[in-house]
Amino acid sequence: MPPYDNQNIFAKILRGEIPCFKIFEDEHTLAFMDIMPRSPGHCLVIPKAEARNLLDCPPEALSRLIVNVQKIALAAKAALEADGITLQQFSESAGGQEVFHLHFHILPRHEGEGLQRHPAPRGDMSVLAAQAEKIRAALVGM
Ligand code: AMP
Repeated sequence: MPPYDNQNIFAKILRGEIPCFKIFEDEHTLAFMDIMPRSPGHCLVIPKAEARNLLDCPPEALSRLIVNVQKIALAAKAALEADGITLQQFSESAGGQEVFHLHFHILPRHEGEGLQRHPAPRGDMSVLAAQAEKIRAALVGM
């Protein structure tokens, strides 16, 4: 597997070189909206640790990350009044990965509604901002 490349777009978001619609941040984790959402409220949770994907992430970093994945999933489900959540993680190109910094996709789902086909169109910035705010509000007190 190739080594971690710190020029990937999520590393740039972590360094503040590129903006994002932030939902949550702590010492180890960042969560933000996916800009090409495949369902309303589609968001991403990433570790601050340098990991290309699931396959090279140190177990301790992964353990911390998955706890926050659950937290954001609960908040996104509540904020979007969703019926369920689809969780996706792609590792390496053959696995469907396009951005090579570990990330979990959280896709709020409503009964009977499919996912947007990939690549989805770029989301409306004001809608993404409003959804991020709703998810942040749902996180308060969790
Ligand atoms: P993948 O690597 O296939 O798991 O997916 C990468 C995801 O990152 C896609 O869903 C993209 O829509 C999303 N994405 C790419 N660039 C950005 C960005 N600047 N901000 C937020 N999401 C992004």
